[in-house]
Formats: sequence, C-alpha cells, structure tokens
Amino acid sequence: MFADVHCHADLYQDFNDVVIRAKQTGVAAIVAVSMDIKSMDTIIKISKQYYGFVFPSLGLHPDACSRTTEMDLTKGLELIRSSSKNLVAIGEIGLDHYFVKSREFYPWQEKIFREMLRISQELNLPVILHTKGAERLIFKILEEYRLENVLIHWYTGPKDLIDVGTKRDYYFSITPAITYSKKVQYVAEKISLDHLLTESDGPVEYDKIRGEPKDCKLIVKKIADIKGYSEDEVEQKLFENAFYFFKSKLGKSY
Ligand SMILES: [Zn+2]
Repeated sequence: MFADVHCHADLYQDFNDVVIRAKQTGVAAIVAVSMDIKSMDTIIKISKQYYGFVFPSLGLHPDACSRTTEMDLTKGLELIRSSSKNLVAIGEIGLDHYFVKSREFYPWQEKIFREMLRISQELNLPVILHTKGAERLIFKILEEYRLENVLIHWYTGPKDLIDVGTKRDYYFSITPAITYSKKVQYVAEKISLDHLLTESDGPVEYDKIRGEPKDCKLIVKKIADIKGYSEDEVEQKLFENAFYFFKSKLGKSY
C-alpha cells in the first residue's frame, strides 16, 4: 500500500478519476494540503466526501502570501482550531524566496509561517513544509519551536542541511521528480528509509506529465533501485512511516 502525503486535491478538475486510479494502484491514503483560505474549505469538503481515504492538512502556503489578508490569517487560524481533531497536519506552510521574487512580501510570509508553526505546536500537529529558496532560514526558525513531526516536502538542497535534518529527526517526502532530478535522487539516497515518504504534489507536472497519487508506486520503485532494497520492502516501510508520521490518524479523520 502507498500513502501520498502531499496532494493538492482541490486543484484537479477530475479528482474522482484520480481517486479511482489511485485505488487501483494500491494507494490507501491521500493527505490533501491547502494553499489559501479558499482551498482550506474545499479540502475539508473533499475529506468529508472521501472519508477514510483523503485526510486534511490545513495551512496557508507562502506562494499565496500576496493574496492572503490579515483577515484570512485570522479566519484560517480559527478554522484550523475548530477542525483540529480531524486534521492530520498543518500544511502546506513555509517560506518561498525562489518563486516569490518580491522581497516586500517576505516579512508577511514569515509572519504567516510563524503563526502556522505556533498553532501546530499548540495543537500538537505535524507540519508539512515548503522551503524553496529559504531552506537555511527555515531550519533556523524551526529551532525556536517544539514541533511534533516535521516533514520537508520536495527538498532539493542545500546538501549540508540534509545532515542537519537527519539529526533533528525530520522526514523528507519524494516526488515523481525522482525519475529525472539528480537533486531529488540525492535526497532519496542520503535519507534513511525510515525517514522517507512518497508524495505526488499533484497536479504539479513532471516532464509535462501531471502528477497523481498513483505515481507513489513509481517513486517507491525508484527509491528501491537507488537504495538497493526490494520494492516490497520500500513499499511497506514507507507506508508505516506515513502512519507513524501522522500519529496513526490516517484511517480515522472525518
Ligand atoms: Zn505542494
């Protein structure tokens, strides 16, 4: 069985077909992450609709900072608090200094990020992090919080922080980019099997092919090739990791 621990379920036009293909491939759980205040509501609706298969993770994404208002942040925090017993994590949250070029947004991005970290600490929920272009700053900020479980999604460098993350017990999720990206392959090689997870980040495209939860099978195969394990071993271990990371909440949410 496979778990897609990072999927933008609300961004597919044909999510029901995506779910059918995922189930046919052996996917047993999808963690749906939000981007902004609007997608928070949609993610909750989808998680109710696909009860026991899609599990909600709510958060405000750094790339959405320019369209996120003070009121959205307040509302988002209220929604997280009121639905906390059904959430498996806080995410997708973080900082982005790569796609977000306008520096005037950085303080606001950090303010949102810190509020998200504060609430995940308060509610004892794991975090799913986007770190693009701000990896060092994020690793520094994380030291100020006592967080349950930390997942770095689609990490591509700098290389030296992989050791820091390992020492701090962070988890790393691998996308279908493992099929062509040397940086992603390096992460899969360096991180021990008990701290790896699979994700589609769908509907993001990989080599012009849209990512879907069903791709977790392909990711497992590639990790098995890189690390020299059997596919079955990797499949079983990574599913166990997901169950452990989300504190056994996959299976019981909405
Ligand atoms: Zn994402």
